Amino acid sequence: MLLDTGAVARTDVPAVRVGDEALDREGLWSAAAAVAERVAGAPAVAVHGDAHLSTIVAVVGGLMAGVPVVPVPADSGVEERRHILRDSGAALWLGRRQEGVDLPVVPVDPAARSSASMPEPAPESTALIMYTSGTTGPPKGVVIPRRAIAADLDALADAWAWTRDDVLVHGLPMFHVHGLVLGVLGALRVGSPLIHTVRPTPVAYAAAARAGGTLFFGVPTVWSRVTADPDSMRALSGARLLVSGSAPLPDTVAHHLSASIGLSPVERYGMTETLITLAARADAPRRTGWVGTALNGVESRLRGEHGEEIPADGESTGELQIRGATVFDGYLGLPEATAAGWTDDGWFRTGDAAVLDADGWHRIVGRMSTDLIKSGGYRIGAGEIEAVLRDHPAVREAAVVGEADDDLGQRIVAYLVGEGIEAQDVIDFVAGRLSAHKRPREVRVVDSLPRNAMGKIQKKLLGDVRR
Ligand code: ATP
Ligand code: MG
Repeated sequence: MLLDTGAVARTDVPAVRVGDEALDREGLWSAAAAVAERVAGAPAVAVHGDAHLSTIVAVVGGLMAGVPVVPVPADSGVEERRHILRDSGAALWLGRRQEGVDLPVVPVDPAARSSASMPEPAPESTALIMYTSGTTGPPKGVVIPRRAIAADLDALADAWAWTRDDVLVHGLPMFHVHGLVLGVLGALRVGSPLIHTVRPTPVAYAAAARAGGTLFFGVPTVWSRVTADPDSMRALSGARLLVSGSAPLPDTVAHHLSASIGLSPVERYGMTETLITLAARADAPRRTGWVGTALNGVESRLRGEHGEEIPADGESTGELQIRGATVFDGYLGLPEATAAGWTDDGWFRTGDAAVLDADGWHRIVGRMSTDLIKSGGYRIGAGEIEAVLRDHPAVREAAVVGEADDDLGQRIVAYLVGEGIEAQDVIDFVAGRLSAHKRPREVRVVDSLPRNAMGKIQKKLLGDVRR
């Protein structure tokens, strides 16, 4: 079974809480069964992915009925929503009607009750059609089978010693892998209660810690905000485990947390296509800047641009490739993108650049397309330069890109956010810390960096934020 419908170990907290609304396990299965009855037989159902208890009921209902569930970003614009609905072939809309939705609407009521029971769908059947974040191009529909979710959650439960005694806390969007697969289905498979805080704020995480939370998920922005909030750090100091993922965790944030509360987040890496595939185990020593090892059932390797082997020497950069049970089936309606996604010998090409060491730990350099800069014959990771820039006292955020250059191929340009940044001062600062070919040729100070709902910097939009 994909979800654990057994009894709960923790009776002091409701099985699922989203903001002020909560359900116990029986209530959840029963409300979801009412949805399952309504949607059984549909080719696919779209779920309005807002941070609401009814979103969880709708997703679980679709999964019970064996109908592919299409989570639609709550913050999507009308055009994006229309694209997802058309592309996915969803026949019903579960949740509150939104602009641009012309499908029949099935209202979802967490208080509804049904005792309908359905046979467990086959492991190879589609559980979710999830759209990528659209960081590098238009969002693509990722077809995720049930077996991938089951394999991923079991491997993570093992890596993080996540059990029914934990209380999971997060406030991440319910339309991405991190918030939905890990953060909702994970709790329901493991059998640990879930407190969803609606928003991932330090104040909300502190309150959830005081209400019994033990395991906390966040993206780097969340942990960075926590470090600025002493009360939240105090409350979180009693947590069992903090987890960070979706984007690189700045070293400064990890160090601040471990120095202040003796806890720093374990990292995890994944993508919609492969679910979570790399993570630091809860009992492994923390290695700042390194996300961790391949999960049970997953293999990883590095390859160069022409498919050549890249050694696991802790230094060489190559494309991270993944094989194993958590990998998706293909992009919906995109046979060419699907074919291009795999190597001839069956490994999925993540498009991310990484370094691997002899112990099997991975450092994520960034996207091959935007974070691996080719300048003057060198291959340079944007992340290393960004980390140095963030060490400058006036710099709060940094994004480094390669821009086309006749002489160098690409020239390194840094976009910075902060107060009172002097471009020359930053250039001098960097000169003392980075070799010449890694130094930005130009520094542009901007008001903010374009980010998506997961807090990821959208580098393709950087040209538009010039001031
Ligand atoms: P699109 O594929 O549409 O461009 P996206 O790749 O941002 O969007 P997701 O599947 O949500 O969509 O995100 C996966 C990506 O997030 C990974 O490929 C990687 O670049 C980044 N990522 C995830 N975890 C980490 C991490 N721990 N450190 C650094 N980067 C990470
Ligand atoms: Mg991607």
